[in-house]
Amino acid sequence: MSDIIQLLPDHVANQIAAGEVVQRPASVVKELLENAIDAQATHIKLIIKEAGKTLIQVIDNGSGMSVTDARLSFERHATSKIKAAEDLFELNTKGFRGEALASIAAIAHVELKTKQEEDEVGTEINIEGSEVISQEVCVTPKGTSISVKNLFYNIPARRNFLKSNAVELRHIIDEFHRVTMAHHSIKFDMYHNGSEIFNLPISNCRQRIVNIFGGKTNEKLVPVKEETDLVTISGFIGKPEYAKRTRGEQFFFVNNRFIKSGYLNHAVNAAFEGLLKDKAHPSYFIYLTVDPKSIDINIHPTKTEIKFEDEHALYAMLRASIKHSLGQFNVAPVLDFNRDASMDTPYEYKGKTAQTPTIEVDRNFNPFKEEKVSGSGSGGGSFSGKSYTSFKKESAGDWENLYVGLESEMTTTKPVENDFSSVEFESAEVTGSLFEPDEKKVGHHTTYQLQKKYIVTTIKSGMVIVNQHRAHQRILYEELLRNITMASAVSQQLLFPLTLSFTKKEIELLTTVKEQLENTGFVFGELSPGEVEITGIPSVTSEKEVAQLLEQLIGDLEDEVPDSGFSQTDLLARSISKSIAVRAGVELASEQQQYMVNSLFACTEPTITPNNKPTFITLTVDEIDKKF
Ligand code: ADP
Ligand code: MG
Repeated sequence: MSDIIQLLPDHVANQIAAGEVVQRPASVVKELLENAIDAQATHIKLIIKEAGKTLIQVIDNGSGMSVTDARLSFERHATSKIKAAEDLFELNTKGFRGEALASIAAIAHVELKTKQEEDEVGTEINIEGSEVISQEVCVTPKGTSISVKNLFYNIPARRNFLKSNAVELRHIIDEFHRVTMAHHSIKFDMYHNGSEIFNLPISNCRQRIVNIFGGKTNEKLVPVKEETDLVTISGFIGKPEYAKRTRGEQFFFVNNRFIKSGYLNHAVNAAFEGLLKDKAHPSYFIYLTVDPKSIDINIHPTKTEIKFEDEHALYAMLRASIKHSLGQFNVAPVLDFNRDASMDTPYEYKGKTAQTPTIEVDRNFNPFKEEKVSGSGSGGGSFSGKSYTSFKKESAGDWENLYVGLESEMTTTKPVENDFSSVEFESAEVTGSLFEPDEKKVGHHTTYQLQKKYIVTTIKSGMVIVNQHRAHQRILYEELLRNITMASAVSQQLLFPLTLSFTKKEIELLTTVKEQLENTGFVFGELSPGEVEITGIPSVTSEKEVAQLLEQLIGDLEDEVPDSGFSQTDLLARSISKSIAVRAGVELASEQQQYMVNSLFACTEPTITPNNKPTFITLTVDEIDKKF
C-alpha cells in the first residue's frame, strides 16, 4: 500500500485551529482587544455590528506594525511575544501563541490597517479565508485597525450554530467587561450598530468598575488589600446585603488577566460564611498579582483557567483578607436576615440608564413654611418636622473635613470631569465616624441661596454649589432606604383616616410593596377594591402629599417592574424621595440651607442623586483665578 499521510495545507490547518480559538464573535473580540493591549495602546475602540456577525472592528493607538510584520502577523505561530520556551514562564503579555490572527483570517474577511509612529505611510492588507487578496500602502493614523467581517462565512455549520444577536452580544459585552476591568488605565469605547454602549475613560480601578456597572455600584463596594511575598491581593467585594441570587458580578484577575477558578471562588464564599442568605452569591472583583513563574496559563486554549503553584496558601490568604475587609468596614453587624426579607435581591442597575425625574415644579409649595407658621408638627408636618430635627443631630457638623478627601479624589481623577458618579469615596469608612452617638456641634458655614435653587457655600479650595432639590432627594432617599431596610421609620398617626381611591390594578401594585411602605411609616387600614384607607403616614411627608406620592409611586412601579426585594425597596425610596424633595423655587432659611449641606455630606453617596445626577459642583480658587 502506498503512503497515505500528507501534511495539511495551511489554510485547512488554520481552519481547524480556528475551531479552538474562535468559538463565537466574543472570542474574536477578546483576541483583538488583547492584541491592542499588548501593543501598548492607551485608547481602544470596539465597533460591533449585528452582535459581531457582520462586523467586529478594533481600533487602537498602539505601536502598529511594520510592512513585514503586518504580513507575518497572519501566519500561524507567528508572534512577537515569545522567542523561546523559557519565555512562557515570564509572560507579561496577553497573547503568546501566535494563533489568533491566523485563525480569524481563516474563517472571515479581514482588513488590517496599521502604521508605526516613525513611518510616513501605513500598510493595508485584505485577507479572505487565509488568502491574501491585496496588500498596499495606505494613509492611516499611528496604531492598528482590524475589521473582521462575515465571521464563519466559509463554515456554514458554525455560522448557523451562532445564537441570537441578543445572546451573542451578551457574550461580547461579558468579554468587554473582563478586559476593560483588567485595564483601567486604558480608555475603551464600545459601539453596537452605530450607538455607543460604553465609554470608559482612563480611571482608577474602582471608577472603572462603577463606570461599567453603574453609579449605584460605588456604594456596594468594600476594598480588599493584602500584600505578601506570595501574592498581592487588591480589588473589591460587594457588601453582603447586595449579594445576588445569580452569580453575576464575580471576577478574578491574575496578573491582569481574567480567570475562572472554582477553588478561589470557594475561598471567597468561605469568607462570607454566615453573612449571606441561602443561595445568595457575593459580588467580587479581585485582582491577584503573582510572580509569572508561579503560574501556568498554558493549560487552556482560551486561557481562562490557570494553575497556581501554591494554591493552598493562596486560598488561605484570600479568605483571610476578605474576612478582614468585611470586619474592618463593619459590614456584617447591621444585617438581620431573619427579619429583613427585603435584602435578598440587590440593586439591578446593569444595563439600565438613569431616568430623568419627570416632576412638575410647584413654585408655591414650601414644605418649610408650614412649620414656621403653625409651629406644630402635627398633620402637615412635612419634611421639616421630625425628620429635620432628627437629621440635624445625626449630620456631621464638620463635613468640610470629609469633603477634603472627596475633593482630592476628584482632582486626582481629572479625566472624568464632572462625572461625580465615579468619584472614589469610601462611604462605609466615613459614615462610620459620622453617626457616632456623641453629639457634635453642627458646623456653621456661611451659606447663600442662589435663585431659590442652589445653595452656595465655601470650602478650603474654593466653593461648592449644591442643587437643593437634588441634594434633598439624596438625603431623603438614604433615610428612606435605612427606614425600609431596618423597619425603623417613625409614623405620624392621622387624626382622621385618609381614604384614597385607586383602580384594581393600582391596588394590586401597591399590595406588592405594602410591607416596604409600612416600613417607611405608612399605616394602612383596609386595601379594599377601589379604595385604600390610610391611618398613618411617614414622618417625612405631609398629608397633602400622600395622594400624589402614591400616584407617582404606582406610575414608577408600572414603568419599572422591579422583581422583588431590594430592587423594590430601592424603587420605593427613589420614588418617594423624588416626590417630596424640596423643589427649586422654594426659599430656604439659613439653618435649612445648613441642614441641607450638612446632611448631604453625611450621606453615603453625597455626589449623586438616586437617579445618578450630580448633586453639587465645585469651583476651585484656581478655576476662579483663571477667569480674571
Ligand atoms: P499573539 O498575540 O499570540 O502573539 P496574534 O495572532 O494575536 O498572536 O498576533 C500575532 C502578532 O501580530 C502579535 O505577536 C503582534 O506582534 C502582532 N499584532 C497583532 N495585533 C496587533 C496590534 N493591534 N498592534 C500591533 N501588533 C499587533
Ligand atoms: Mg494575540
